[in-house]
Amino acid sequence: MKNLRPIHYRIFPKSPEAHLFEVTCTVDDPDPDGQRFALPAWIPGSYMIREFARHVVTIAAKVGRRPLAVTKLDKHTWMAAPTAGPLTVTMVVYAWDLSVRGAHLDTGHGFFNGPCVFLRVLGREHQPCEVDILRPTGARYGKWQLATGMRRHTAPPHGFGTYKARDYDELIDHPVEMGTFTLAAFKAAGVPHEVAITGRHSADVDRLCRDLKKLCEYQIHLFGAPAPMDRYVFLVTAVGEGYGGLEHRASTALLCSRDDLPEAGVDAVSETYRIFLGLCSHEYFHTWNVKRIKPAVFSPYDLERENYTTLLWAFEGITSYYDDLTLVRAGLISEGDYLEILGKNITALMRNGGRHKQTVAEASWDAWIKYYRQDENSPNSQVSYYLKGSLIALCLDLLIRERTRNRKSLDHVMRLLWQRYGQSGIGVPENAVENVASEVAGSRLRSFFDKALRMTEELPLKQMLATVGATINLRQAESPTDKGGKPSSGRSGRKGSHVTLGIRTADDPAGVRLTHVVEGGSAQLAGLAAGDVIVAIDGLKTTAKTLEKRLSRFKPGDRVRVHLFRRDELADREISLQAAALDTCTVSVTASDATARRRREGWLGS
Ligand code: ZN
Repeated sequence: MKNLRPIHYRIFPKSPEAHLFEVTCTVDDPDPDGQRFALPAWIPGSYMIREFARHVVTIAAKVGRRPLAVTKLDKHTWMAAPTAGPLTVTMVVYAWDLSVRGAHLDTGHGFFNGPCVFLRVLGREHQPCEVDILRPTGARYGKWQLATGMRRHTAPPHGFGTYKARDYDELIDHPVEMGTFTLAAFKAAGVPHEVAITGRHSADVDRLCRDLKKLCEYQIHLFGAPAPMDRYVFLVTAVGEGYGGLEHRASTALLCSRDDLPEAGVDAVSETYRIFLGLCSHEYFHTWNVKRIKPAVFSPYDLERENYTTLLWAFEGITSYYDDLTLVRAGLISEGDYLEILGKNITALMRNGGRHKQTVAEASWDAWIKYYRQDENSPNSQVSYYLKGSLIALCLDLLIRERTRNRKSLDHVMRLLWQRYGQSGIGVPENAVENVASEVAGSRLRSFFDKALRMTEELPLKQMLATVGATINLRQAESPTDKGGKPSSGRSGRKGSHVTLGIRTADDPAGVRLTHVVEGGSAQLAGLAAGDVIVAIDGLKTTAKTLEKRLSRFKPGDRVRVHLFRRDELADREISLQAAALDTCTVSVTASDATARRRREGWLGS
């Protein structure tokens, strides 16, 4: 076999104050008919066409010192004039997207995802890659370090220098952080793990490492040691307000609020820290489920266009199920905490009218144009393959446990998928998750899957939770911030039924802005629309803060006059108030019987 010479890349934060990276790509033996180069249209894990080529400011080619013509062939493909090489293409890329999917550079730090900055050399995707990552020029950058899951070539640990990747797919699967971040390390099941936190924070990093170690070890043992990666890096960016994560084969990029991180001297797991641990758990689970056990259509990814699959319910939904389940099984949260999360998730699904319109298989297929491009009507027309997918995974887990008298579970399905597809590198066919689950259950689950994945019927949550001694209780929402999970606080002091306008809102300087209007709800029937700003109810000035109080005086069937602005036009409408739906869920459990034992020793036990 031909000895493949590496494609050589070099990335230099040329102008942090202007947010510009200079990136070169050198090919020793370019295509003699004219070498083509392209930037990906999307980044794996985030299913939306992003067209990273739009951030390319300039591009030029050279052979030695001689400039060479570059022609643009389409929105993200270029071709250099024919040459014998070695050919170097130099791009300047604008980096001002502080999301887990982008590239960002200023005088405080740099961060990039490979698809934003590294050209794909067409026809050479399987050649090894080397990349020199350079420090910005100037004394102020002397203390900068580097964190990435990419393998070092000649670079020192956490240092600038040369890194390497087996091929282009691996090159773009290791985001890189550079700056003066906090660095901590721990081992999980013998594998070195690092946490790099960028941004101002006062986190108890030792505590964070102790907790992450527990959840990482739980998941490594769930799939079976040894872990598939020889090291792993959590790249955390802490900001004032933010939330997001993107999975990679040996790392994850996370964005969080600095207040989500654990505080020194506090032993309890606060709700915001629980959400952060859930995010870490989610992305870590993807190390197996989607980065290695991956849909056949992702093997390999087609980086030019949408890659369609019906399986995101399994890759995102099952992952969402295990993210919080890991926390309770690893002892990081209590059974009560977990049941509260479950109650909130069921509440969110019940308030999502789109579940009657779209199946999760459709939601997965259309992720590119719907889930990732939501608008004011999305709650009425779409279902989330994360949320409903996680509750399908719950039902599937309990169904398998019931059919096998608790000898088998979804854990066995995941292990089998890992052994059959993940370890072998074979892509998962569209029907394989269902077939493997039926095989583990020892009986056909076709009718369960047809209903759960390809129909809009309600999930059998009540029946399945009953098998582990858990009961769903439904009540009205008590306030706009009532997300369920907890029993009625009784604080509203209200005797009769709560009323609802059927809206989701945001603050507005003039009053209450409607972000979403529920189909068939009081507001929609009276002609209100998303974007309207309610300024008065019953003749009294109303804000997001006072909305609940204004409505508390009314009962279902009452008619109330509402003043609002649509664009800049004042209007008034009479609204007939509906009773709030019984869509707020808590999950309660029996204390001691056979079902309670099944719950503690099976489902929620480690
Ligand atoms: Zn995910």
